[in-house]
Amino acid sequence: GLKKIDVLVIGAGAAGLMCAIEAGKRGRTVVVVDHSTKPAEKIRISGGGRCNFTNIHTSPENFISENKRFCVSALKRYTQQDFIDLVNRHNIAWHEKTLGQLFCDESSFQIIDMLLDECDAADVTIKLNTEISNIIKRDDDGFDVTTRTGAQWTCSSLVVACGGLSIPKIGATGFGYQIAHQFGINVIPTRAALVPFVFDPDLRARTGELSGISVDAIVQCNKKQFREGLLFTHRGLSGPSILQISSYWNEGDSITVNLNPEEDAFDLLKAAKGENPKQAVHTVLSRILPNRLAQMIAATHGLDRPIGETGDKALRKLAMDVNQWALTPSGTEGYRTAEVTVGGVDTNALSSKTMEARDVPGLYFIGEVVDVTGHLGGFNFQWAWSSGWSAGQVV
Ligand code: FAD
Repeated sequence: GLKKIDVLVIGAGAAGLMCAIEAGKRGRTVVVVDHSTKPAEKIRISGGGRCNFTNIHTSPENFISENKRFCVSALKRYTQQDFIDLVNRHNIAWHEKTLGQLFCDESSFQIIDMLLDECDAADVTIKLNTEISNIIKRDDDGFDVTTRTGAQWTCSSLVVACGGLSIPKIGATGFGYQIAHQFGINVIPTRAALVPFVFDPDLRARTGELSGISVDAIVQCNKKQFREGLLFTHRGLSGPSILQISSYWNEGDSITVNLNPEEDAFDLLKAAKGENPKQAVHTVLSRILPNRLAQMIAATHGLDRPIGETGDKALRKLAMDVNQWALTPSGTEGYRTAEVTVGGVDTNALSSKTMEARDVPGLYFIGEVVDVTGHLGGFNFQWAWSSGWSAGQVV
């Protein structure tokens, strides 16, 4: 039969649950539906199972969007401190890992349980295993929503919180973008982000043996740079600095890597040549790089002779591969392993205060489905909390 409710939220993830809690607290009748059999699967797997739930340094600079100012209002209205206060009220122990990133001491399940407890207290109904087959805008006000099994709701507010395309294995779909299209709302082209790079077979043959080696690096692309860990993998490169820069990378772009920001490789090689011309080039390099990496770089340049027999020009070229290694990844690992999706529902179509679609009263988009993408470090959850909370005040 047809049930009349105030708010229907599609997606029982971070943003959807936060919005439902806030609307429920205002006395609205709220139903959250999710096609998955479990709520908030992404929270469960986040932060290596400990959920990096926010970042104490959250600011608009930590987000990527066609409209850089769009996130400002929501981030101000519901801040990282507001979420930390919520976590504290639930007696969840947490710690700062690095760069302002806050993690649960124990488990990401604590964040899920906290949200479900809050939903319970606010009388929110959660329906799992539920797929939407049809959405119709009513002439008067609101929406008629039908599920695959024939259940029907009439709601005055419809909140789209189905997230992005990353990790289809745990339930990601493009359904949110499909709803945007249905209502004539523009979607900024999407791509996998916070994702490892893969190399072509040649580069992979050269670097494959480095798999497992990590260094502190500066990685640059399209005028953006990050200094964090970098990890060689069987297939290419990963680690925080690489995940960060992947969000700014487009097919065909080259990236520049400084494999040791603390040392100037040319200065070192030149001095070493004067001090002891008999030592091998890779021996000198291994003072500032892991052994295998030093050997690979020397071998790539055919420099297995003593350093005294190597010209400065060749040393300078080799040093470039340490401090300014330019390479072109052949691609990324894609949505299979990406932590987020860049792009999404065009913010020009939404109110930055409430997340309501300007031309479709009663329709809201929150969380990752929107064209707002955080850097690595807890920013994506903070966007989910802030945008979900903002919509929750008015739906
Ligand atoms: P989601 O949390 O993805 O929720 C969307 C919900 O919608 C899901 O429950 C899904 O089942 C449901 N859904 C999808 N399609 C449909 C449909 N057709 N019908 C019904 N329901 C549907 N961010 C951080 O800030 N810190 C971290 O530590 C962190 N770690 C991460 C680790 C991994 C491995 C991944 C993949 C992501 C990580 N992220 C992290 C990113 C973060 O998880 C997301 O940005 C965030 O979950 C987005 O919240 P959301 O509510 O918009 O979407």
